[in-house]
Amino acid sequence: MIRSAFPKLLSNYQRNLIQYMSLHKKKIHISVLLAGLLISSIEAQAQLPRKAEFELKKVKAEKSDRVKHILEKMRSSRKEFNLQEESDFEEINSESDEFGETHVRLQQKYKNLKVWGATVVAHLSAEKHLRQHSGKILPSPHIDTNARLLPENAILIAEHDLGKKVEYDTKPIAELIIYPVSEHRVAERFKNEKHLNADMMEEIPLRNLLAYHVHLNAENNPAGGVSMDYIIDANTGDVISKWSRLFNAHAIATSSRSQYNGVVSINTNSYSALGTSGYELRDMQRGNTLRYGESVAGNTVWYARPEGTGETSVDIATDTTNTWGDGFNYTAGAGNDTRQTAAVDTAYAIAATWDFLKKIVNREGLDNKGTAVRAIILDQGTGANATWFPSSLTGRFGAGDSSNNYKNMNSLDIVAHEMGHGVTAAGSALGLTGKVESRQLNEAVSDVLGTMVEFYVRGGAWAAGSTTIPNAASGANWTLGDQVNVPRLMNNTTTWTGTDSSAAPHIGGLPFSRAFYLLAQGGNGVTALGNDTAFRIFYRAWNYYFNASTDYVGARQAMITAARDLYGSGSIQEQSVWNAFGVIRVGPMWTSNACGTLDSGRQLNYSGIKSCNGLYTLQVNADGYMALYNGQNAIWYTNTGGNTLAYAAMQSDGNFVLYKSLQQTGPQAALWNTETWDYPQSYLRIADDGNLIVYTSTGLPLWSRVALPSNLLPVVGNGGNTSVNSAQLIPPTAPGVTSALNKNESHYYRIDIPAGKTLKADFVGRALTSTYGGGVTPYWNDKWEISISSVLGGDTMTATDAYNPRKTVSYTNTSAATISAFVKVYQYIFTFSSEDVSIPHKYSVAFKIE
Ligand SMILES: [Zn+2]
Repeated sequence: MIRSAFPKLLSNYQRNLIQYMSLHKKKIHISVLLAGLLISSIEAQAQLPRKAEFELKKVKAEKSDRVKHILEKMRSSRKEFNLQEESDFEEINSESDEFGETHVRLQQKYKNLKVWGATVVAHLSAEKHLRQHSGKILPSPHIDTNARLLPENAILIAEHDLGKKVEYDTKPIAELIIYPVSEHRVAERFKNEKHLNADMMEEIPLRNLLAYHVHLNAENNPAGGVSMDYIIDANTGDVISKWSRLFNAHAIATSSRSQYNGVVSINTNSYSALGTSGYELRDMQRGNTLRYGESVAGNTVWYARPEGTGETSVDIATDTTNTWGDGFNYTAGAGNDTRQTAAVDTAYAIAATWDFLKKIVNREGLDNKGTAVRAIILDQGTGANATWFPSSLTGRFGAGDSSNNYKNMNSLDIVAHEMGHGVTAAGSALGLTGKVESRQLNEAVSDVLGTMVEFYVRGGAWAAGSTTIPNAASGANWTLGDQVNVPRLMNNTTTWTGTDSSAAPHIGGLPFSRAFYLLAQGGNGVTALGNDTAFRIFYRAWNYYFNASTDYVGARQAMITAARDLYGSGSIQEQSVWNAFGVIRVGPMWTSNACGTLDSGRQLNYSGIKSCNGLYTLQVNADGYMALYNGQNAIWYTNTGGNTLAYAAMQSDGNFVLYKSLQQTGPQAALWNTETWDYPQSYLRIADDGNLIVYTSTGLPLWSRVALPSNLLPVVGNGGNTSVNSAQLIPPTAPGVTSALNKNESHYYRIDIPAGKTLKADFVGRALTSTYGGGVTPYWNDKWEISISSVLGGDTMTATDAYNPRKTVSYTNTSAATISAFVKVYQYIFTFSSEDVSIPHKYSVAFKIE
């Protein structure tokens, strides 16, 4: 039968691959691992591990290689970084994500000594391109690295400074380092600025010191735990800096009075270990990676300016006795307790958002690296507003506006909303291209986080259909900012703003918020999924599928893809996503035949789509090849391994294209395509029998993986019709007419064979050529195949490659009736990097019926 032609074809491919590899012991672009896996799945029917398993193994095996690669690249970029030969980098840690990207955190070194605080994360793309680095690289220090002080002297100095004898957990050591001394100050041009914000600060490098880093570790010391770090000048013995490590300074203020959250516990930091006594609003258990420019970790809350002064510096919130707040709205000049109330609310909200991200979606802080965040509160200038500064991981919250009865801008949902901007900035960068709809969505996704954190903390209206707005303190609701008197409804009645591109981001984002609300709570024909499920789908879309310029249509696609990843194609969850967006007039409502279909404009990735009967899955694997699975077995694939960010798109022009990566589009980045670009709004169908078919918008098949039954053949391409795309299923062209094929593509010809007659097909003369290397003779690595199959059963004849040795393929109709036969011409050249596979290779076939 027709379908059985396929494995046979693959066996040929395998045979040729092995033959080829033994003949040409050169490096070829085919992943040997991939070839091995496919051979086992086809011939031995072994279980091919699906999706992540073997890809993970591969990434692991490659990881040390990739780290080495990054180190080499960073070293070869020394000049760019303004570094001398003595400067180097050393791996601190590294991780590979599910897209095959490797993120390596590096320590800068000078003459083999650590440059203190100079760490950088280098990102290596799946294709091993050093995409970018984040963090700071300092200029080469140029200092004498011979210390006058011995390490044991440095330890003695530290112990002397500590002023008490302790029982060490581990023996103190002193490590020689380069210590850059700098000044963190308000940038000159902002000196007279009254409403200072974090982005107005700058770091001025002053000098580099040769120093010892001494750590005194006595956390279990009976008379009080000690975990101190010292920086000691390696020449003079001066104590340059000292601080206590995270946990021993951790304190809990159990009965802190907030304005919006009642009496709560907040984490504070006791700094009595440093000689002065008191507590600061620094959460030593959350935010354990240092913010840029800071020497102590922990999420912090700062006042926009000291109470009752005209100074422009910001101060961290402190209390001498660790009792915080009075529970009242801030009034300027009303005293420290009132001011602390806003600080308590903010600290509580930051911790709640942090825990929500960790517990619900296993995210480490906003940047997923645990970097500490900072809130600057009670800013008179910001008024009834709040702003997020992504580069410094700082939120700035207004003191409200008493003339309009707007209260402190520190309610739980508002703080979580601002932190949402931090998640977006670190992840999808949604909205950063300035596109109107992406900016609207940027606000909407923050509203979703704000609302969900509020539900996480307070519980409340989880039940489907609930739209009530409970009072401020007792339960969560679907309104943002109600407590500060600047409300914004998630359960609104808006629809997509259409061409009204002037809509402000917060307003233009409301339809998305409504779609999320409907997804969680149902209504308007949408089946409620509950907050948990809705958020899981949303989070996956937000972090893996949204990008800087995602618009409403893209957001819908992302949410559908995420729902399929998590719950399967055609699932109730996917249907609800369709319907939630349908209600806000973004895309259609769900229809039952939507399964097994990749619509025009939609993308396919490793999550894949299933045929409606659930038997076949088409997906782009993380390794870059697109494969069709029957259960666990790959039954068809594109030979495009080694492209880790690959994805396929059913383009609106009708072409179904597999691209190398999300970052690259255009002809150069195409790995494989169906050549059906002349038919706008075409769609791809994964049929219940495992066939893949590209249909026109009116339902005519344009391309198929295996030949379609004759009654499905389109009546197009009638001989001389030059507008017909060469990749279509077309009736035979006249002998000698030249067609062009790209690598791994097939052409189909339908020919009727009368009873008792034989169809012969052969390549004709010199037309079997490659445009590479002159274009007149067959290029040596061209490989072609002709196969003939019948519709009504009987044998499938498959020829060997028609070049070297060349063969005529024939098929005899032994039945008593005329049958339709399909001639498939297939090209599977092996390519080298020097050859441009995008150049079509030409051929012509002669058909004879005898
Ligand atoms: Zn916002």
